[in-house]
Amino acid sequence: MAQLIDGKAVAARVRAEVKAEVDRLRAEKGLVPGLAVVRVGEDPASKTYVSGKKKAAEEVGFLSWEHHRDSTVSQDELLALVRRLNEDPAVHGVLVQLPLPRHIDPDVIISAVRPEKDVDGFHPLNAGNLVLGRPATRACTPLGVMRLLEEIGCEPAGKRAVVVGRSNIVGKPMALMLLQRNATVTLCHSKSDLPSEVSRADILVVAAGVRELVKGAWIKPGAVVIDVGMNRKEEDGKLVGDVEFQAAAERASFITPVPGGVGPMTIAMLIRNTLEAAVRGLGPSSA
Ligand code: NDP
Repeated sequence: MAQLIDGKAVAARVRAEVKAEVDRLRAEKGLVPGLAVVRVGEDPASKTYVSGKKKAAEEVGFLSWEHHRDSTVSQDELLALVRRLNEDPAVHGVLVQLPLPRHIDPDVIISAVRPEKDVDGFHPLNAGNLVLGRPATRACTPLGVMRLLEEIGCEPAGKRAVVVGRSNIVGKPMALMLLQRNATVTLCHSKSDLPSEVSRADILVVAAGVRELVKGAWIKPGAVVIDVGMNRKEEDGKLVGDVEFQAAAERASFITPVPGGVGPMTIAMLIRNTLEAAVRGLGPSSA
């Protein structure tokens, strides 16, 4: 039976590390990191995510602001807000909660955030630097997965890693981060032969957004299984992952639960990225 990977506990540790660093920065440099979150419209999931991010930011001692705009806001108005936050010296991280209403092009908005303040790691410059293996702010969810692997002592080098899902925010950066750590990486999508690819994985990361897509019987015995999926069950509103949990847990060595696995790590890494953006703003030698 697999050991559970307690993302909630690891995330709490990451936040505690950040808080200690924030206390030090405030005492020694008078610096308080600031995170500005932009939310558009009334999407209930976005509302929940944003309030979770704001709460986590405040708990570690950041300043935080939520800028809420009606769903009728124009793209130009939103761009003007992002540019204002780009120029505000109290703001070290700018995050625009997705999805945006259909009349707004998310690529235009994401590209308008100053790369130094792009704590989501979605700006093309940060995404491109990840591809090139250069320093970059990295997308929070895959960064959180890398931290979970580290916590359980799973060394990716030489292992076969299979990532299911190729989105720009999870799957692609996940594959690149595993590749950078010398795993042999396969990136799967809706046209892949999943049972055969999954059954070869020593490390399996699933981010497809399809409830229990990956069957327990496909899991290689002893594999590490990371389930990024968050699907709400229609029957009872509970969260369920992309992996058939019970059956997979019988074969895996480690597995993340849903909820309580990857989810809390995403916010913890956002907090870490914001701290790092604030420290970078101090200049190379003064942190
Ligand atoms: P997207 O919808 O952007 O991407 C889904 C990917 O999964 C696509 O590449 C798609 O393939 C692939 N896919 C869909 N169906 C299948 C299938 N039947 N077989 C194989 N591949 C398939 O999703 P996101 O990456 O944004 O999110 C994925 C999941 O992760 C969601 O459940 C989301 O809620 C969750 N999530 C969780 C986070 C957390 O903090 N825990 C953070 C972000 C996301 P193709 O490209 O061919 O269409």
